[in-house]
Amino acid sequence: MDNYFKLACDATIEGMQAGTGGPFGATLVDASGEVIVAVGNTVLRDTDPSGHAEMVAVREACAKLNTLDLAGTTMYATCEPCPMCVAVMMWAGVSKCFFASTRVDAADNGFSDQHLRDYLDGSDPAAFDMEHLDEGRDDCAEIWTEFQRLNA
Ligand SMILES: [Zn+2]
Repeated sequence: MDNYFKLACDATIEGMQAGTGGPFGATLVDASGEVIVAVGNTVLRDTDPSGHAEMVAVREACAKLNTLDLAGTTMYATCEPCPMCVAVMMWAGVSKCFFASTRVDAADNGFSDQHLRDYLDGSDPAAFDMEHLDEGRDDCAEIWTEFQRLNA
C-alpha cells in the first residue's frame, strides 16, 4: 500500500517543481492492485480550480479505460479529499479511498476546505449564494422531454 502513496507523492512533487499543481496527489488502483493512474494536482497547469488530484485521477482513469464506471477501484489520496473530490469519486463508483494527510494538515498549509464542509452540512448557508428559480422550470422541462424521447 505504501507504494501507492509514494507514486502519488512522486507525481505531486514533480508537478510542484514544474509549477503545474499544488501539494496534492492521488493514485487509482484497480481491483487486482494494478496502478491505473498516479497523478498530481493540475490546477495551475490547466488554470482549472477543479484540477484536484482525485478529480484528475478519475478523469484520466475514465478516459484511459473508456468507462464512466470505476467500480472496484481504490483511490490513494495524499491528503483527505475535499467534498468535490468525494463527490466525483462517488459519481464514478470508486469503491474505496484511503488518504494520508488530513484536512487539518491541508489547512495548516493554506488549503482549507472548511467553507465547503460548512456549506454542505448546513452550518453556513451563507457560504454560497444558490437559489431555486421556479420561473425557469418550464423552459428547462424541455430537457427532460427530449431526454425521455431519446431514451424511449
Ligand atoms: Zn478536491
